[in-house]
Amino acid sequence: MSTQFKVLNPATGELVEIVNLNTEDEIKQALKNGHNAFKKWSKIDAHTRSKLLKDWSRIIQENKEDIAEVMTLENGKPLKESLGEVTYATTYIDWYAEEATRIYGRTIPASSETKRIVVSHQPIGLVAAITPWNFPAAMMTRKAAPALAAGCTFIVKPAEETPLTTMKLVELAHEVGIPHDAIQYVNGKGPDVGTLFTDSEYIRKITFTGSTPIGKLLMRNSADTVKHVTMELGGHAPLIVAEDADLDFAVTQTILSKFRNAGQTCICANRVIVHENIVDAFSERLTKAVNKLIVGNGMDKDTDIGPIINEKGYQKIFSQVNDAIEKGANVLIGNEYKANIEQGSFFVYPTVLKNVKENMTIMQEETFGPIIPIISFKKIEEAVEIANSTPFGLAAYFFTNDYRVGTYLHDHLDFGIIGWNDGAPSGAHVPFGGMKESGLGREGGSEGIEPYLETKYLSIGHFDH
Ligand code: ADP
Repeated sequence: MSTQFKVLNPATGELVEIVNLNTEDEIKQALKNGHNAFKKWSKIDAHTRSKLLKDWSRIIQENKEDIAEVMTLENGKPLKESLGEVTYATTYIDWYAEEATRIYGRTIPASSETKRIVVSHQPIGLVAAITPWNFPAAMMTRKAAPALAAGCTFIVKPAEETPLTTMKLVELAHEVGIPHDAIQYVNGKGPDVGTLFTDSEYIRKITFTGSTPIGKLLMRNSADTVKHVTMELGGHAPLIVAEDADLDFAVTQTILSKFRNAGQTCICANRVIVHENIVDAFSERLTKAVNKLIVGNGMDKDTDIGPIINEKGYQKIFSQVNDAIEKGANVLIGNEYKANIEQGSFFVYPTVLKNVKENMTIMQEETFGPIIPIISFKKIEEAVEIANSTPFGLAAYFFTNDYRVGTYLHDHLDFGIIGWNDGAPSGAHVPFGGMKESGLGREGGSEGIEPYLETKYLSIGHFDH
């Protein structure tokens, strides 16, 4: 059995680095170490933990260029996006460095004058994270920072495609003095490490970002030891353009939402639902704007859209577009590909499809690629019906300046994240997460630390004054 795996550059297929796979014994030992370290780390005062987190954020910023370069090499995203992601990743550390000192308890009026009731919080224990390849820095820090801030210890298994960014960030945490066993990484194949994590009695919580089927599996496998779970799973974001919308603004925001990371994000606009009276004007302006986007190697400074991560992702996009065309969609721009499958490099040009219908696969499954399918609607109720007709409920966007339409959409869309005239709603200070099969729990904001805390109440009896 192989004990190593290759990290490849999806823009060129070239080898970036060879990484060692951890053995089962090494992973078990790491879990034991993380469990043992919890006893010490959880007792360190919150102000010291906060200071260490701030130091971690600072050293990441000092190494920003190097980290961003590694990220672009292993993930393919444009260097400017990688630089943006490194900063975005540190905002989670900064936010939770502050939250560490704000883990308040409360007192509850007792039902008898001889009693006092005090509610306090304590960290839940060792937390295991499994992260995806699309945001190798930010998906890790938005789990690690609240865990460490709460007093939990943390172990992460990064995606096999992009382990290098994560490894570097963990090493920097050690460099500023966060104890080695308080934050660790292990490398291995998803199913193998996943089973070791879910079977382990040392781990009290699994936090996962990835596909819905793997999230469901992890939830099932966490049941025997009743682990806490936070699941950030697939999305299938609708973006509704109402009849009164500011079209140029809606076009800019659609591009912003759709093409980050070549459309490989779980909150990317995936279904563009436009009022029939403006669908031609909107499509025309969108196509013009898409025509300006530059596809290429993420290391080139002009690149807007990098490669698709791997052949599986590439083939999925290709088949969704073909299915749409076969069922009657028109290609306004794109449907071009540049791939060297043998070598392992995969580019998809940004594509706009019009006259899309709900029976097309692209309307039913997450695309994870730079494709915009446009479907039209007559009445706003119909737009909501199309938007909600999916098991997913992560992000939704809409564009309107009519407050009645806006509040109606906000009330009726079953999604955890709503962007009203806003194509980029993420941030460390907000509760990110999905409804329905898009997940459980929230990451970010004051909500994002709660899943790392147990609630304990103390009832003191026999007060006799
Ligand atoms: P994608 O198809 O986009 O790669 P996945 O959900 O398969 O999404 O991957 C997200 C993360 O889940 C990666 O770190 C991957 O290694 C991990 N993973 C894949 N399969 C399993 C599994 N059976 N158990 C635990 N983790 C897994």
